[in-house]
Amino acid sequence: MKQHDIKVSFKEYDNITELKPADQNLCAEAVNAMATSHSPYSKFRVGAALQLQSGKIIHASNQENVAYPSGLCAERVALFHWGAGHADDPVVSMAVTAHTDDFPLLKPVTSCGACLQVMAEVEKRQNSPLRVLLYCIDGPVWVINDVKSMMPFMFFEERLVQPV
Ligand SMILES: [Zn+2]
Repeated sequence: MKQHDIKVSFKEYDNITELKPADQNLCAEAVNAMATSHSPYSKFRVGAALQLQSGKIIHASNQENVAYPSGLCAERVALFHWGAGHADDPVVSMAVTAHTDDFPLLKPVTSCGACLQVMAEVEKRQNSPLRVLLYCIDGPVWVINDVKSMMPFMFFEERLVQPV
C-alpha cells in the first residue's frame, strides 16, 4: 500500500486592488458579464470572463432553465463559446464572480465539478495553463495557476483522443 498526498496551492489576495491591472480588469469584466445572467430560479448570478492570448475577452453568465438540469453554468457557457469560435486563441485566464441579493457572499464562489472537467479539457486542448481567478466582490480573490492542480483526478484518457 502506498499513501499519496496531493497538495493544492493557490494565492489569496485580500481584495481586487492587490492584483495586476490586467487581472483587475478581467475581474471587472466578470462582474459586467453577470448582467446577462438568466437566473430567475436561484437568483444567484454568476459571471465569467475569459482573457484570450490575443487580448480578446469573452463574457458569459449562468443560464438557468425551468427544466433545471437544462441550464448551464457561466464557466461552461464561456468555455463552450470559446471552443465554438475561438479555439485557436488560447485562454490565458478566466475570472469568475457571483452575486445574490439573498445573502452576502464573503468568499469566492468555486466552480462545480462539471465545469472543472470542462476547464481541464480546455487546458489539455490548448496545451497551456488556464489560470483561474475566483473573485468575491468587495472581498478576496483566489488565483489558481492551472486547472490541473484544482482537478488532479480529472477524467482524461489518452486512448480516446483522436489523432489530429
Ligand atoms: Zn459549473
